[in-house]
Amino acid sequence: MIAISLPRLTSRINALARFGALPGGGVTRSCWSAPHEEARAWLLGEMRAAGLATWVDPAGNTFGSLGARALSPETPAVLTGSHIDTVPEGGVLDGALGVLAGLECLQVVRETNTPHAKPLAVAAWSDEEGRYGSLFGSRAFCGLLEGNVDEMAAPDGTRLVDAMAHAGFDARRAADARTPKGAVSSYVELHIEQGPRLEEAGIPIGVVEAIVGVRRSRVVFVGQADHAGTTPMERRRDAFLAGADYALRAREHVVTRGSSVSVTNIGVVRVHPGASNIVPGRAELLHEMRDPDPGVLERLAKECAALAHDVARTHRLAVELYPISATTPAQCSARVQATIEKACAKLGLATRRLYSAAGHDAQNLARVGDAGMIFIPSQGGRSHRVDEMSDPAAIQRGANVLLHTLLALADGA
Ligand SMILES: [Zn+2]
Repeated sequence: MIAISLPRLTSRINALARFGALPGGGVTRSCWSAPHEEARAWLLGEMRAAGLATWVDPAGNTFGSLGARALSPETPAVLTGSHIDTVPEGGVLDGALGVLAGLECLQVVRETNTPHAKPLAVAAWSDEEGRYGSLFGSRAFCGLLEGNVDEMAAPDGTRLVDAMAHAGFDARRAADARTPKGAVSSYVELHIEQGPRLEEAGIPIGVVEAIVGVRRSRVVFVGQADHAGTTPMERRRDAFLAGADYALRAREHVVTRGSSVSVTNIGVVRVHPGASNIVPGRAELLHEMRDPDPGVLERLAKECAALAHDVARTHRLAVELYPISATTPAQCSARVQATIEKACAKLGLATRRLYSAAGHDAQNLARVGDAGMIFIPSQGGRSHRVDEMSDPAAIQRGANVLLHTLLALADGA
């Protein structure tokens, strides 16, 4: 039976990990940065050496393909891929695995002259981690790029247009990356689970049924800055205390009123003016919520907004709510899930269906073709940290499942 080469895949994972490598392990490789652009050039070289046709689209998505020199509705392709950007101080597998396993699959198919009725292609999508805009490249490819690229910026203020220009791209042309309708027959992405469920259950392969939607909003409590020594306690309108109250009540609300898998996080808090001797006049919180059910997510967002107003009344101050982003939960294709499970049965691997608690490019691809995802266990459920890892055997199993899934889809499964 046709199989991937684990030594070759491992050596490419190690090679890619050198771009943006950190002294203590792990990697920082944000999209459009110098290490990212060096990694892109290396990836293009590897793709060409493997005999693939390559191109980079206006959104910076990098492609390698077998059986077609472009994506076109005349020859709908079976697509795989993931991303080569990382979060700051991230691991070496998140994204890299899906891109390099995809490349390995295509290389094996080519070397073995294995027939495939549809073209096969592998993509590295730009800025999946959203330094400038989450899932930027796949959104552009799927025609889902909304808003003004001139306003997109990194947390440190660097503008997307400048970062892209520095890397040789024109952000204002990114929407031109939109793929023609019908050019993508199906999309399968191999990814680490980034959570503990598969490892704890002792199941080698996860078949993703749905990908969570993520809501992010900025909640700003506006009170009154005052002298922290001379203002009597009962007269203070402390914006931070309102924010803290909101954080605790929003968590309680999501835990008790959300679904069994709803999660919420407040990952950024800014207090103004930000001095120990001033009562905070303004507190800004970035509030995020996730759930695989769009109805639950919509309801929680409305209820948390009402909660913010209630908290503001209680603390006698004002609140302003600004939506930042809202992705819709995506259902994976039944056909792709069944094809993955058939490949696993052929390879003698147990599977479990699960939902993805993290956002992925596959949720956008689900809008232009049949999309699905294959998960392998993450050691200790660790991800978005420098010690993120999966067992070599788990990587090998995942890549072989990807290979047989791609071939089945290319032959009309
Ligand atoms: Zn990822």
